[in-house]
Amino acid sequence: GLASSEPKEGEENLRSPICCIMGHVDTGKTKLLDCIRGTNVQEGEAGGITQQIGATYFPAENIRERTRELKADAKLKVPGLLVIDTPGHESFTNLRSRGSSLCDLAILVVDIMHGLEPQTIESLNLLRMRDTEFIVALNKIINPFILQMDRLYGWKTCKNAPIVKAMKQQTKDVVNEFNMRLTGIITQFKEQGLNTELYYKNKEMGETFSIVPTSAITGEGIPDLLLLLVNWAQKTMVEKLTYVDDVQCTVLEVKVIEGHGTTIDVVLVNGVLREGDQIVVCGLQASINLGPIVTTIRALLTPHPMKELRVKGTYVHHKEIKAAQGIKITAQGLEHAIAGTALHVIGPDDDIEAIKEQAMEDMESIGTPICVP
Ligand code: GDP
Repeated sequence: GLASSEPKEGEENLRSPICCIMGHVDTGKTKLLDCIRGTNVQEGEAGGITQQIGATYFPAENIRERTRELKADAKLKVPGLLVIDTPGHESFTNLRSRGSSLCDLAILVVDIMHGLEPQTIESLNLLRMRDTEFIVALNKIINPFILQMDRLYGWKTCKNAPIVKAMKQQTKDVVNEFNMRLTGIITQFKEQGLNTELYYKNKEMGETFSIVPTSAITGEGIPDLLLLLVNWAQKTMVEKLTYVDDVQCTVLEVKVIEGHGTTIDVVLVNGVLREGDQIVVCGLQASINLGPIVTTIRALLTPHPMKELRVKGTYVHHKEIKAAQGIKITAQGLEHAIAGTALHVIGPDDDIEAIKEQAMEDMESIGTPICVP
């Protein structure tokens, strides 16, 4: 199940790292997510979109399976990986939001044909400002060869293969072409003051950012990307990823869902949420008066596990959910909830008034509401 993260003795109790995908438009962010998830949202697959709640959870078993070919002896210590799957969602790109504290790490997608583009640099600056670690996915590696060399030298597809294995299948010309483009892009990053290197040649992760070549169409490099993300997170972010009981939770979106009324999609960064919990979120009454909304969680919902994402219109109900997770919450009075703000849980010993005040202080620190329903 989703909450099966009970630690064995002597093991750290870690939550899942949270990852977001950034980059210029059309670099393949949606396609990359689709590829990891095994869905087809990019081409408008109905079910996939219907149940999107802004984040997809990849359980450790799934990551293990996808990365088997890499024969990594590294042990997965995190219960999974939570990927924020609304690239360009305002709550994340807007600096006034709490987005900065949401993502533990990011994938910066660059089109190998186009190199660094205006929004790549924008994303880069945001990541640096937030001090967020990231990995570069150098996407569309099958593109240049198809375009330029047609049948003679084309990239030989190796579906979902690790990148080193896929590279070995290519002709010398294809490898040369790849290396030339890679060098160009490393130079462009250098011009932005950043050292980057192909991930399996990178000896100083942290100082030098890793590049993983990918094809979101045929899956080459996806195992590498997944493994690198998880390994890096659990190795360097133990403190940040340590599970605590204090709830850290952000409202992503406020949505009316048939049969459920007004719901909020949240990202639970840390802690646990339970059905029946009393919560406080920021609200906006009559479009002018800010005020805290105090309500009770009626249902905690998630989409069906990945392979069943196509089942339309139904959600899985949970009695409790541990971080990190993307969750749809149903409760009364959420009509005027504000996206981008924090959700607070009122514990048995908590002072409701103090928590209401805290909720409103968050609001002020964000500034203007980001997204008013
Ligand atoms: P986004 O705007 O960054 O989310 O980009 P999309 O995922 O919508 O992709 C933009 C276009 O690039 C679509 O036509 C995709 O099919 C195509 N695309 C994405 N990834 C790849 C890839 O790895 N190789 C090739 N050849 N095309 C890709």
